[in-house]
Amino acid sequence: SIVVTGATGHLGRQVAEQLLEKVPAERITAVVRDKEKAVGLAARGVRLAVADYNAPETFDGLFSAGDRVLLISGNEFDKGRVRQHEVVIDAARAAGVALLAYTSAPGSLRAALADDHRATEEVLLASGLPYSLLRNGWYHENYTENLAPVLEHGAVVQAAGDGRISSASRADYAAAAVAVLTGEGHENTTYELGGDVAWGFAEYAAELSRQTGREIVYNPVSVEALTGILTGAGLPAPLAAILAGVDASIEKGELAVSSGDLSRLTGRPTTPLADAVAAALKD
Ligand code: NDP
Repeated sequence: SIVVTGATGHLGRQVAEQLLEKVPAERITAVVRDKEKAVGLAARGVRLAVADYNAPETFDGLFSAGDRVLLISGNEFDKGRVRQHEVVIDAARAAGVALLAYTSAPGSLRAALADDHRATEEVLLASGLPYSLLRNGWYHENYTENLAPVLEHGAVVQAAGDGRISSASRADYAAAAVAVLTGEGHENTTYELGGDVAWGFAEYAAELSRQTGREIVYNPVSVEALTGILTGAGLPAPLAAILAGVDASIEKGELAVSSGDLSRLTGRPTTPLADAVAAALKD
């Protein structure tokens, strides 16, 4: 089987959808915490397995020898993600899966956010399993799904200076994961995945202006100021610091990925940022 964890998340849903276009549904297993969120997948014949990264026993017997597994990194920052991911890797090793692909972060990213990913990569390499590191760059949607305050204030407020970022759509990263899960020769590979075109926040503001017909400017602030804005908006302080730290990394170019791996894996150009903006404004 092809087994996908986090299958009811934003990325996992797209992976499942794209897998359904390539392989019979009964060959796909979606690992979910809540079956209610996966009724659509089940209705289309995808097998469901209920498991939680926090409960190792729920992964007992979940994998079979020869499975190809996509471990989608978790989002519970306060629960020890490395240990969570290790639970999945341990179970996969015990079963003898043929490939374990993991959604990581760019090798160039030095921000605190990357620590869990680097540590998980080490656990995976030490496991001896055939692996594929899908070092996903940033999603367009990190920005385009958070347009309300931007439109309200007529300003993109970030702490990234003139830094450039090569983001791509979640659908692009999902397509890369599907290529690895369904293709051959991806054992023990590391892919640095990012959009074909790098952009800066001034260009992003200009694109928003163009598509909305309103003046939207880029207002670059300090990392401290952004941390304050994010906590003011209700984010817990540690998370706000982590997110603002990403902007410092963007300013240094750590989220500009120029390998071309993403479009090479998917066989097509990555989705332009302008398309993600248009999709978000249509919603
Ligand atoms: P989502 O937050 O939409 O999905 C996270 C998925 O992880 C969900 O399916 C969630 O399950 C699952 N999950 C979380 N904790 C557990 C757990 N304890 N046990 C089992 N499953 C768990 O994120 P995306 O799909 O957009 O992105 C995938 C991952 O990529 C994120 O989790 C994060 O690690 C990383 N990321 C990358 C970004 C980038 O720009 N490259 C941006 C944001 C995140 P459930 O559906 O039940 O909630």
